[in-house]
Amino acid sequence: QPMIEFQHVFKSYGRGRNILADITFKVSPGEFIFVSGPSGAGKSTLLKLVGGLEPPSRGAIQVHGQRLEKLSARARPYLRRAVGVILQDTHLLYDRSAFENVMLPLAVTGLAPELASARARAAMEKVGLSGKEALNPIELSGGEQQRLAIARAIVNRPAILIADEPTANLDRDNARRILNVFRDFNRVGVTMLIASHDEALMAEHATRTLRVEPGRFTDVRTRPAAEEQA
Ligand code: ADP
Ligand code: ADP
Repeated sequence: QPMIEFQHVFKSYGRGRNILADITFKVSPGEFIFVSGPSGAGKSTLLKLVGGLEPPSRGAIQVHGQRLEKLSARARPYLRRAVGVILQDTHLLYDRSAFENVMLPLAVTGLAPELASARARAAMEKVGLSGKEALNPIELSGGEQQRLAIARAIVNRPAILIADEPTANLDRDNARRILNVFRDFNRVGVTMLIASHDEALMAEHATRTLRVEPGRFTDVRTRPAAEEQA
């Protein structure tokens, strides 16, 4: 079964024009996919549909075995755990520590407190933020805040990670560092879907590019997925 499947999906906001029209594609587990296209074309919209943050206007979407066009309130938390979301606005909370931000998604899982703490520490370590647990996110640099948002998105060990322009506003070194973190997740089997303008950086990692342009959608296979190369 595909990890993600879109069948003839249309999306408009309110009574507006179609941002996405008749989009069909499948994503297999473990793929590393780059969503490219000009600003305003609908990249964020595509990611939000995958994350269940926006409903499709028409068509069928299946993500991790869930049908999203009829996602019930009860199924939503399940989807939340299956899909880690890193949006352009990091949605970090500045009234609590970096560590508490990473703990947030675990609050609803019923995980034992010691286990939850261990997971949150491991997630922060993975993104290179060990030692910064007690700081307020406001005390972190832009790159560190971006990595904190990643730690929060992965703490539940999602099968799919979607990230919207995760390297925007970062210098080259920080951008590479974040891509390396994503590559490590992908190597342990996480399906990656990343929207970015940074074609050069993404070309080093992506196995496939979904190109979103006004009125046009193209699916370009760039090279085999990691497990096929082995
Ligand atoms: P991209 O990520 O490629 O820049 P977006 O998906 O953010 O594109 O936006 C695509 C189009 O949809 C834009 O014209 C944008 O203004 C519009 N749009 C995005 N979100 C909303 C919304 N919540 N309500 C109305 N229009 C929106
Ligand atoms: P709103 O849409 O009003 O901002 P939501 O409750 O839908 O509020 O989501 C708040 C934010 O929590 C999201 O925008 C996203 O940044 C974050 N979030 C949602 N789901 C996940 C997830 N599975 N993993 C990590 N962060 C998530």
